[in-house]
Amino acid sequence: MTGRELITDVQNTWCPGCGNFTIQHTLKKILAEMETAGRSLDDVVLVSGIGCHAKIADYLNINTFYSLHGRTIPVATGIKLANPDLTVICCCGDGDCYAEGLDHLIFAAKRNVDITVIVHNNRVYGLTTGQYTPTSPLGFRGKSTPSGTAEFPLNPLELMLASGATYIARGYTKKMDQLRALLQGGIAHRGFSFIDVLQICATFFPAADYYTPRVYDPADHDPTSFDHACVLAREWDYNSDARIPLGVLYTATFPCFGERMATKGVTAGEREEAVRQILASRI
Ligand code: SF4
Repeated sequence: MTGRELITDVQNTWCPGCGNFTIQHTLKKILAEMETAGRSLDDVVLVSGIGCHAKIADYLNINTFYSLHGRTIPVATGIKLANPDLTVICCCGDGDCYAEGLDHLIFAAKRNVDITVIVHNNRVYGLTTGQYTPTSPLGFRGKSTPSGTAEFPLNPLELMLASGATYIARGYTKKMDQLRALLQGGIAHRGFSFIDVLQICATFFPAADYYTPRVYDPADHDPTSFDHACVLAREWDYNSDARIPLGVLYTATFPCFGERMATKGVTAGEREEAVRQILASRI
Protein backbone atom coordinates (compact mmCIF):
# COMPACT_ATOMS: atom_id res chain seq x y z
CA MET A 1 0.00 0.00 0.00
CA THR A 2 1.37 3.45 -0.83
CA GLY A 3 0.21 7.01 -0.21
CA ARG A 4 -1.85 5.98 2.77
CA GLU A 5 -3.21 8.41 5.34
CA LEU A 6 -0.81 7.95 8.22
CA ILE A 7 -3.11 9.22 10.94
CA THR A 8 -6.20 7.15 11.73
CA ASP A 9 -9.63 8.64 12.40
CA VAL A 10 -9.60 7.33 15.99
CA GLN A 11 -10.48 10.14 18.43
CA ASN A 12 -7.27 11.53 19.95
CA THR A 13 -7.54 11.86 23.73
CA TRP A 14 -4.10 13.26 24.57
CA CYS A 15 -4.25 16.52 26.54
CA PRO A 16 -3.63 19.77 24.63
CA GLY A 17 0.10 20.53 24.76
CA CYS A 18 1.11 16.90 25.35
CA GLY A 19 4.55 15.99 23.98
CA ASN A 20 3.15 12.76 22.59
CA PHE A 21 1.81 14.82 19.67
CA THR A 22 5.38 15.79 18.79
CA ILE A 23 6.57 12.19 18.80
CA GLN A 24 3.59 11.08 16.72
CA HIS A 25 4.10 13.89 14.20
CA THR A 26 7.82 13.12 14.00
CA LEU A 27 7.19 9.44 13.38
CA LYS A 28 4.57 10.29 10.79
CA LYS A 29 7.09 12.39 8.86
CA ILE A 30 9.71 9.65 9.04
CA LEU A 31 7.23 7.02 7.84
CA ALA A 32 6.15 9.22 4.96
CA GLU A 33 9.77 9.67 3.93
CA MET A 34 10.39 5.94 4.15
CA GLU A 35 7.44 5.33 1.88
CA THR A 36 8.57 8.00 -0.58
CA ALA A 37 11.98 6.33 -0.65
CA GLY A 38 10.33 3.08 -1.73
CA ARG A 39 10.05 1.26 1.57
CA SER A 40 6.69 -0.48 2.02
CA LEU A 41 5.09 0.52 5.31
CA ASP A 42 3.63 -2.96 5.42
CA ASP A 43 7.13 -3.95 6.53
CA VAL A 44 7.05 -1.66 9.55
CA VAL A 45 5.62 -2.69 12.94
CA LEU A 46 5.13 -0.40 15.91
CA VAL A 47 4.72 -1.99 19.36
CA SER A 48 3.43 0.06 22.29
CA GLY A 49 2.99 -0.66 25.98
CA ILE A 50 0.38 0.70 28.36
CA GLY A 51 0.11 4.37 29.24
CA CYS A 52 -0.63 7.65 27.48
CA HIS A 53 2.15 6.99 24.97
CA ALA A 54 0.58 3.68 23.98
CA LYS A 55 -2.35 5.32 22.23
CA ILE A 56 0.03 6.05 19.37
CA ALA A 57 -0.75 2.46 18.31
CA ASP A 58 -4.32 3.61 17.68
CA TYR A 59 -3.38 6.86 16.00
CA LEU A 60 -0.72 5.81 13.47
CA ASN A 61 -2.04 3.91 10.48
CA ILE A 62 0.62 1.22 10.25
CA ASN A 63 0.92 -2.31 11.66
CA THR A 64 0.75 -1.88 15.43
CA PHE A 65 0.65 -4.16 18.44
CA TYR A 66 -0.69 -2.93 21.78
CA SER A 67 1.26 -5.04 24.26
CA LEU A 68 1.09 -5.49 28.04
CA HIS A 69 2.51 -3.02 30.52
CA GLY A 70 6.30 -3.22 30.40
CA ARG A 71 6.27 -5.89 27.72
CA THR A 72 6.88 -3.95 24.53
CA ILE A 73 10.44 -5.17 24.15
CA PRO A 74 9.86 -8.95 24.36
CA VAL A 75 6.99 -8.60 21.90
CA ALA A 76 9.17 -6.54 19.55
CA THR A 77 12.03 -9.00 19.93
CA GLY A 78 9.75 -11.89 19.00
CA ILE A 79 8.43 -10.04 15.95
CA LYS A 80 11.93 -9.20 14.76
CA LEU A 81 13.25 -12.74 15.25
CA ALA A 82 10.23 -14.25 13.51
CA ASN A 83 10.62 -11.92 10.54
CA PRO A 84 14.01 -10.17 10.33
CA ASP A 85 12.87 -8.27 7.24
CA LEU A 86 10.58 -6.07 9.33
CA THR A 87 11.50 -2.69 10.80
CA VAL A 88 10.36 -2.91 14.42
CA ILE A 89 9.81 0.20 16.52
CA CYS A 90 8.87 0.17 20.20
CA CYS A 91 7.14 3.13 21.80
CA CYS A 92 7.38 2.80 25.59
CA GLY A 93 6.62 5.01 28.54
CA ASP A 94 9.13 5.66 31.31
CA GLY A 95 6.95 3.87 33.83
CA ASP A 96 6.40 1.17 31.25
CA CYS A 97 10.05 0.67 30.29
CA TYR A 98 12.07 1.76 33.34
CA ALA A 99 9.85 0.10 35.98
CA GLU A 100 7.82 -2.96 34.92
CA GLY A 101 9.89 -3.57 31.79
CA LEU A 102 13.37 -2.69 33.03
CA ASP A 103 14.76 -6.21 32.83
CA HIS A 104 13.60 -6.53 29.20
CA LEU A 105 15.27 -3.24 28.34
CA ILE A 106 18.59 -4.32 29.80
CA PHE A 107 18.58 -7.72 28.12
CA ALA A 108 17.56 -6.40 24.72
CA ALA A 109 20.47 -3.95 24.93
CA LYS A 110 22.81 -6.73 26.08
CA ARG A 111 21.72 -8.91 23.16
CA ASN A 112 21.85 -6.03 20.66
CA VAL A 113 18.41 -6.91 19.32
CA ASP A 114 17.83 -5.02 16.06
CA ILE A 115 14.87 -2.90 17.19
CA THR A 116 14.37 0.79 17.96
CA VAL A 117 13.12 1.71 21.42
CA ILE A 118 11.65 5.20 21.81
CA VAL A 119 10.95 6.06 25.44
CA HIS A 120 8.29 8.76 25.88
CA ASN A 121 9.94 9.88 29.11
CA ASN A 122 7.50 12.32 30.71
CA ARG A 123 8.78 11.25 34.13
CA VAL A 124 5.30 10.59 35.51
CA TYR A 125 2.48 8.04 35.21
CA GLY A 126 0.14 10.32 33.25
CA LEU A 127 -2.64 7.86 32.38
CA THR A 128 -3.22 7.02 36.04
CA THR A 129 -3.15 10.74 36.94
CA GLY A 130 0.28 11.54 38.25
CA GLN A 131 2.17 8.94 40.26
CA TYR A 132 6.00 9.06 40.31
CA THR A 133 8.08 6.89 37.98
CA PRO A 134 11.74 5.78 38.08
CA THR A 135 12.84 9.04 36.41
CA SER A 136 10.78 11.47 38.53
CA PRO A 137 13.05 13.90 40.39
CA LEU A 138 13.74 13.56 44.09
CA GLY A 139 10.90 15.17 46.05
CA PHE A 140 8.36 14.84 43.21
CA ARG A 141 4.88 15.39 44.62
CA GLY A 142 2.28 13.21 42.96
CA LYS A 143 -0.85 11.25 43.81
CA SER A 144 1.17 8.47 45.46
CA THR A 145 3.76 10.78 47.04
CA PRO A 146 1.97 13.84 48.43
CA SER A 147 4.96 14.63 50.63
CA GLY A 148 7.45 14.11 47.80
CA THR A 149 9.46 11.09 46.68
CA ALA A 150 12.32 9.95 48.86
CA GLU A 151 14.37 8.33 46.09
CA PHE A 152 16.75 9.57 43.42
CA PRO A 153 15.82 9.07 39.77
CA LEU A 154 17.30 6.40 37.53
CA ASN A 155 19.71 7.54 34.80
CA PRO A 156 18.63 5.43 31.79
CA LEU A 157 21.41 6.62 29.48
CA GLU A 158 24.07 5.48 31.92
CA LEU A 159 22.24 2.18 32.28
CA MET A 160 22.09 1.66 28.51
CA LEU A 161 25.80 2.37 28.15
CA ALA A 162 26.53 -0.24 30.79
CA SER A 163 24.11 -2.72 29.19
CA GLY A 164 25.55 -2.76 25.68
CA ALA A 165 23.12 -0.71 23.57
CA THR A 166 24.76 0.24 20.27
CA TYR A 167 22.81 3.46 19.56
CA ILE A 168 22.04 5.72 22.50
CA ALA A 169 20.47 9.14 22.14
CA ARG A 170 18.46 11.72 24.04
CA GLY A 171 15.88 14.00 22.43
CA TYR A 172 13.41 16.61 23.61
CA THR A 173 9.89 17.18 22.32
CA LYS A 174 10.52 20.94 22.03
CA LYS A 175 13.37 20.20 19.57
CA MET A 176 11.46 18.50 16.80
CA ASP A 177 14.01 18.72 13.97
CA GLN A 178 16.67 17.17 16.13
CA LEU A 179 14.24 14.55 17.40
CA ARG A 180 13.47 13.56 13.84
CA ALA A 181 17.16 13.08 13.08
CA LEU A 182 17.64 11.02 16.23
CA LEU A 183 14.69 8.73 15.48
CA GLN A 184 15.76 8.36 11.85
CA GLY A 185 19.26 7.47 12.97
CA GLY A 186 17.92 4.93 15.43
CA ILE A 187 15.65 3.28 12.87
CA ALA A 188 18.48 3.13 10.32
CA HIS A 189 20.94 1.74 12.86
CA ARG A 190 21.54 -2.01 12.74
CA GLY A 191 21.37 -3.16 16.35
CA PHE A 192 19.68 -2.03 19.54
CA SER A 193 18.69 1.63 19.27
CA PHE A 194 17.57 3.51 22.35
CA ILE A 195 16.25 7.07 22.31
CA ASP A 196 15.20 8.61 25.60
CA VAL A 197 12.83 11.46 24.72
CA LEU A 198 12.23 14.14 27.33
CA GLN A 199 8.50 14.46 26.73
CA ILE A 200 6.36 17.19 28.18
CA CYS A 201 3.36 15.98 30.17
CA ALA A 202 1.26 19.13 30.02
CA THR A 203 -1.01 18.02 32.85
CA PHE A 204 1.14 16.30 35.48
CA PHE A 205 4.74 17.33 34.73
CA PRO A 206 4.87 20.46 32.55
CA ALA A 207 8.67 20.74 32.72
CA ALA A 208 9.44 22.87 29.62
CA ASP A 209 10.59 25.83 31.75
CA TYR A 210 13.07 23.50 33.41
CA TYR A 211 14.33 21.72 30.27
CA THR A 212 14.46 24.48 27.67
CA PRO A 213 17.17 26.65 29.27
CA ARG A 214 19.29 23.60 30.12
CA VAL A 215 19.33 21.49 26.95
CA TYR A 216 22.30 21.86 24.58
CA ASP A 217 24.08 20.04 21.77
CA PRO A 218 27.63 18.95 22.65
CA ALA A 219 29.16 19.99 19.32
CA ASP A 220 32.58 18.41 19.72
CA HIS A 221 31.33 15.03 20.94
CA ASP A 222 32.50 11.91 19.08
CA PRO A 223 29.67 9.34 19.50
CA THR A 224 32.09 6.46 18.97
CA SER A 225 33.87 7.44 22.19
CA PHE A 226 32.39 5.29 24.94
CA ASP A 227 34.30 7.18 27.63
CA HIS A 228 33.04 10.58 26.55
CA ALA A 229 29.52 9.21 26.16
CA CYS A 230 29.74 8.18 29.83
CA VAL A 231 30.81 11.71 30.76
CA LEU A 232 27.84 13.19 28.90
CA ALA A 233 25.40 10.63 30.31
CA ARG A 234 26.50 11.59 33.81
CA GLU A 235 26.48 15.33 33.19
CA TRP A 236 22.79 15.52 34.12
CA ASP A 237 21.47 12.91 36.53
CA TYR A 238 17.73 13.59 35.90
CA ASN A 239 17.69 15.54 39.14
CA SER A 240 20.28 18.32 39.18
CA ASP A 241 20.38 21.82 37.69
CA ALA A 242 23.18 20.81 35.30
CA ARG A 243 23.06 21.31 31.55
CA ILE A 244 21.30 18.52 29.65
CA PRO A 245 23.17 17.15 26.61
CA LEU A 246 20.97 16.12 23.68
CA GLY A 247 21.83 14.15 20.56
CA VAL A 248 23.51 10.84 19.82
CA LEU A 249 25.68 9.99 22.79
CA TYR A 250 26.98 6.68 21.55
CA THR A 251 27.07 4.47 18.48
CA ALA A 252 28.88 1.20 17.88
CA THR A 253 28.89 -1.56 15.30
CA PHE A 254 28.35 -5.02 16.72
CA PRO A 255 26.61 -8.19 15.44
CA CYS A 256 22.85 -8.25 16.17
CA PHE A 257 21.11 -10.93 18.19
CA GLY A 258 19.24 -12.18 15.11
CA GLU A 259 22.46 -12.62 13.16
CA ARG A 260 23.78 -14.94 15.85
CA MET A 261 20.55 -16.95 15.93
CA ALA A 262 19.59 -19.82 13.68
CA THR A 263 17.18 -17.66 11.66
CA LYS A 264 20.02 -16.74 9.32
CA GLY A 265 19.45 -18.25 5.90
CA VAL A 266 15.87 -19.32 6.65
CA THR A 267 13.33 -18.19 4.06
CA ALA A 268 10.17 -16.28 4.92
CA GLY A 269 8.09 -19.33 3.90
CA GLU A 270 10.08 -21.63 6.20
CA ARG A 271 9.63 -19.19 9.07
CA GLU A 272 5.88 -19.05 8.46
CA GLU A 273 5.68 -22.83 8.41
CA ALA A 274 7.68 -23.09 11.65
CA VAL A 275 5.35 -20.61 13.37
CA ARG A 276 2.31 -22.51 12.01
CA GLN A 277 3.65 -25.75 13.46
CA ILE A 278 4.34 -24.16 16.87
CA LEU A 279 0.81 -22.75 16.99
CA ALA A 280 -0.71 -26.07 15.88
CA SER A 281 1.20 -27.95 18.58
CA ARG A 282 -0.40 -25.72 21.25
CA ILE A 283 -4.02 -26.28 20.17
FE1 SF4 B 1 -0.01 13.71 27.71
FE2 SF4 B 1 0.29 13.96 30.33
FE3 SF4 B 1 -2.12 14.24 29.25
FE4 SF4 B 1 -0.94 11.86 29.35
S1 SF4 B 1 -1.63 13.07 31.10
S2 SF4 B 1 -2.03 12.75 27.58
S3 SF4 B 1 1.21 12.37 29.02
S4 SF4 B 1 -0.33 15.58 28.91
